Amino acid sequence: MPQQQPGDGADCRDVPVVVIGAGMAGLIAARELRRRGVEVVVLESAARPGGRMLAETTALGSRVDLGGQWIGHGHHRFEALAAEFDATAFPMRTPKWPAIVEGTRTVRNFGLTSAVAIASLLCWEVVSRVGVPRSWKNHSVHSWLRRVPNRRARRLLEVLVSVSTTADLDRCSMHAFLTMVRYQGGLSTMLASTGGAQERLLAEAAGTLTERLAADLRGRVVFDSAVTALHRDEAGVTIHSASGEYRAAKVIVTVPPPMAAAIEHHPPLPDQRIRLQRNTYMGSVYKAIAVYTHPFWREHRDAELTTLTEPGMAIFDTSPPAGPGHLCILIAGPEARNLETLSTDARRTKILSALVDHLGAGILETRGWHEKAWHQDRHVGGGYSALPSLGHEDGYYPAPAEPTGHIHWAGTETAHEHAGYIEGAIESGERAAREVLDALSSAATLQ
Ligand SMILES: Cc1cc2nc3c(=O)[nH]c(=O)nc-3n(C[C@H](O)[C@H](O)[C@H](O)COP(=O)(O)OP(=O)(O)OC[C@H]3O[C@@H](n4cnc5c(N)ncnc54)[C@H](O)[C@@H]3O)c2cc1C
Repeated sequence: MPQQQPGDGADCRDVPVVVIGAGMAGLIAARELRRRGVEVVVLESAARPGGRMLAETTALGSRVDLGGQWIGHGHHRFEALAAEFDATAFPMRTPKWPAIVEGTRTVRNFGLTSAVAIASLLCWEVVSRVGVPRSWKNHSVHSWLRRVPNRRARRLLEVLVSVSTTADLDRCSMHAFLTMVRYQGGLSTMLASTGGAQERLLAEAAGTLTERLAADLRGRVVFDSAVTALHRDEAGVTIHSASGEYRAAKVIVTVPPPMAAAIEHHPPLPDQRIRLQRNTYMGSVYKAIAVYTHPFWREHRDAELTTLTEPGMAIFDTSPPAGPGHLCILIAGPEARNLETLSTDARRTKILSALVDHLGAGILETRGWHEKAWHQDRHVGGGYSALPSLGHEDGYYPAPAEPTGHIHWAGTETAHEHAGYIEGAIESGERAAREVLDALSSAATLQ
């Protein structure tokens, strides 16, 4: 862990570049700048690096990710970073047909529910490709789903959309959802493991990469240092933060847009950016990892399933090749928020009891339980990413990243490829660092 260097609050520290946020985007931007010999300070509001990435160590010594974890198909930057840190990538174990279950019942793969759900998914895929009607901007996914004739198919679609986007379906327009589907390369890419967004995992946990990046910056990351205001002028930017005042020639903001709204700007930001911050919100998502001595379920069945009884869940077998057993649980939208009324024990019992009929009674015999409700995290506000509010197009990928004076914008939402993912965060950090390096070298040439 890098050492904290709090400012003393009285002096103004001069530094060529200040990066705001020590998530993947900010750490990559800072690393690129350092590699080119530019001094940098990263101001992070939380007491840890990683933002929407967070690894924990289990009682059995394995590492689990409570935030971003999967390396998707074609996420080359993420792959390269993992290889650079000698992390061990392995393919996620996934069955040909993940199970769909409701209560004690398993929904038949080729029954009416599946047929209606597949027909709807195909319809969405076609519309996302040929062009989404603009009038769907004001129609929520929730209202569209009400017209699906089969109750169980409707519920399956609800859980699939909710877990893949983390949106509240009554706040998410069909236009926004299907535009996202098109941007991400189709529903099969978004939902699939092999060839899709959930292809590979890291045995050491993806969150280890942000820990390592922060450590390599050797004390340049200042924690507990929320930025509260940015004053920009002709020559640079004055940064007000919980750890004091800084003066920089350039600033890179990597905070997700709805959370960046808490930072005051003088003079005010352009309208487009104010709209982006105002008309987006962070998704609600709860993630848990149950830990077992070994993935015992593999003796009888695969553990990739979607559950339809509330809370709707997506379950994945994320066990590393050398063990132990890791079962990953994702719950999104309002059903994630509803879990807040329960104690940790009650939550674990509710979630795991729903799996006993499908994975065996051993599922209750955990050796560890790691959980995080991201919508309760006051620093990142939720996940997986910022979402456009119903009726608005602000926040569609990629989010605008045109510099505002000496302020440059990064963060996964601004990526041109794989926005919303770790890959997008890396792309955006590299791009913002390049922009700043170009601007600094042009300024030096002019002097
Ligand atoms: C549960 C979950 C599962 C996910 N699964 C995957 C996955 O499997 N694969 C994948 O590729 N992606 C996944 N993602 C998404 C991925 O984690 C994110 O896209 C990525 O981590 C975003 O990185 P970032 O640097 O752009 O933003 P962030 O990580 O949000 O970094 C922004 C940083 O800014 C800090 N900050 C906020 N406000 C201030 C302020 N005022 N001053 C200073 N600092 C501030 C925050 O604390 C944070 O550290 C998941 C996300 C979640 C939450």
